[in-house]
Amino acid sequence: MNVYDSNRMADVLAAQGFQVVAAAEAADLIILNTCHIREKAVEKVFSELGRLRRLRSRSSDGEASGEARRPLLAIAGCVAQAEGAEIARRAPFADIIVGPQAYHRLPELIASVERDGTPALDTDFPAEPKFDSLPEVQATTSPGSAFVTVQEGCDRFCTFCVVPYTRGAEYSRPASDVLTEVHRLVELGAREITLLGQNVNAYHGVGPDGEVWSLARLIAALADIPGVARIRFTTSHPADMDEGLIAAFREQPKLMPFLHLPVQSGADAVLAAMNRNHTADDYRRLVDRLRQARPDLALGTDLIVGFPGETDRDFAATLTLVEDCRFAQAYSFKFSARPGTPAAREPQVPEEVKEERLAALQTALDRHRQAFNAAMLGRRVAVLFDRHGRRHGQIVGRSPYMQAVVASSPALRLGSLATVEITAVGPNSLAGTLIEGVSA
Ligand code: SF4
Repeated sequence: MNVYDSNRMADVLAAQGFQVVAAAEAADLIILNTCHIREKAVEKVFSELGRLRRLRSRSSDGEASGEARRPLLAIAGCVAQAEGAEIARRAPFADIIVGPQAYHRLPELIASVERDGTPALDTDFPAEPKFDSLPEVQATTSPGSAFVTVQEGCDRFCTFCVVPYTRGAEYSRPASDVLTEVHRLVELGAREITLLGQNVNAYHGVGPDGEVWSLARLIAALADIPGVARIRFTTSHPADMDEGLIAAFREQPKLMPFLHLPVQSGADAVLAAMNRNHTADDYRRLVDRLRQARPDLALGTDLIVGFPGETDRDFAATLTLVEDCRFAQAYSFKFSARPGTPAAREPQVPEEVKEERLAALQTALDRHRQAFNAAMLGRRVAVLFDRHGRRHGQIVGRSPYMQAVVASSPALRLGSLATVEITAVGPNSLAGTLIEGVSA
């Protein structure tokens, strides 16, 4: 979502005459768009600020002194939202601190800094939705592929998570706004649309017919747009997977057979302590229903080890769930406390226990990922190519199952969909040969 937000900030500022440059040294305005999910996020921001500070020692009137102009420095995103006052205290040289719900106001914030010469802070959750103030989208996220935020915020309050505090309450964009943005992205070359939300499957936007649309209904409408070839969505909560969305995996060929569905733990006691609102068996049943709807579905997940109170037995239950669900892809982490969240106040599991559990978990996850990838050998899959590889003539794209696929074709345009026969399976990617009859 930060990639999407960064692009939208660029769209807002393009109307003010700004354009993206390759290096901070060449910029008149530097925006650090920050994420609060990762460990030590705040410290990373301060260390980056320290690095950028030297650019601030330039003269504010660069032209007169013959050197580059002193850039304005803005901190955006969830760290700005959660730690705005602390940033202002520790980095008083920062000009703008703006939260993720207020970045459409960047032009006013810049004007205020330039006018008054004092820092500007905006970490409000404005009453008027940010999306109403954003200009028309100017570019796809990568060749052939685009992110579209459809939902923001979260009402679930998992006890380890900062999102409800930094992104606020759940908000769904009206479906007609999403449809307009996707039509525009198709004009700009998008073939694949990834719908984004912190809890995307809780989407409940007002449709053009005045009814509340679910995510499944929105996906059906997007699938009708000529030019849209692939639809994905992320990230989902298991308790918000409704029947319509499960059925969409059966009924909607444009909905790709990959679902990122965080489970976090396989132990009911831990799931309850996390306030996840489902049990491990609920999750297993959900996976069964999804696989009945789409037998080749590749499942991704997030897992936390060493959550406060997690016992050896709880961890063993997580390993059992991993064996049962056979994830094709997973992000696994040692629990680390986020300030202000309920889990941060609980007694913590010793670090060495977390490390042991993480190593055991990742061994199991790697085995399943490799087995999933190995089963691709000899298969033909459609790949959307979006970047060049390291070697001359190499291009890299994504399979329907989100695997990176490398092929050799100096002539194929990035943003194209083509059929590839998989001829080799590596630890992190597949390799293959382009087949005649490129599909786009
Ligand atoms: S559902 Fe996801 S975004 Fe919402 S509180 Fe839980 S982990 Fe955070």
